[in-house]
Amino acid sequence: LPRVPGGARLHSDGLSRPVQTLRVKMVLLGSSGVGKSSLALRFDKDEFRSTTPTVGCAYLTRVVHLSDVTLRFEIWDTAGQEKYHSITPLYYRGAHAALVVYDVSQRETFVRAQVWLKELEKQYIPGSTVIWLVGNKVDRAQDRQVSVQEGQSLANDRGLLFTETSALLGDQVCELLLAVAHRVHECIGAQQG
Ligand code: GDP
Repeated sequence: LPRVPGGARLHSDGLSRPVQTLRVKMVLLGSSGVGKSSLALRFDKDEFRSTTPTVGCAYLTRVVHLSDVTLRFEIWDTAGQEKYHSITPLYYRGAHAALVVYDVSQRETFVRAQVWLKELEKQYIPGSTVIWLVGNKVDRAQDRQVSVQEGQSLANDRGLLFTETSALLGDQVCELLLAVAHRVHECIGAQQG
């Protein structure tokens, strides 16, 4: 739909109606070094930096336009806190979406992802948080330690959605954000009215 000034869109009946904006809190979880900050940066600016020092609480925003709704993502990065296993419930609280990220070239990060999933499941109300399992660094094909099938079957067992990405190449990153946006819209659109 074409957008018209004032955040409204012109519909086929010639009338313009305001576009609803939903605020979406999305948290990133996973072992240190799996590429959470790199994914967040890609979501934010669609660029990749080889060194991303994470100091303090990283927080980025990104607006995603769907056909009849605008989602304003607030993307929370652990900012290195995961190293000390000190992520507080505040971090998860009110999250509409959670990405649990592992590195396909580091098996222990996949094992650790399962611990993060358990942790997350203690905090969220089923049905109110979209949880997505993300296998990052697929560009490291030679060093792969976790197969696509393993990722997919973990996701299937837990009723999660699953995507493999490369934050380095930007592979499947925008697609992931868009897919999360659609799913979140389905889940929370009704709640936020
Ligand atoms: P975080 O600790 O989970 O936030 O991880 P970072 O985003 O800081 O990334 C850790 C390291 O992995 C950095 O050196 C990144 O450049 C690198 N990295 C992140 N994503 C990818 C990817 O998709 N492919 C490759 N090859 N390296 C990546």
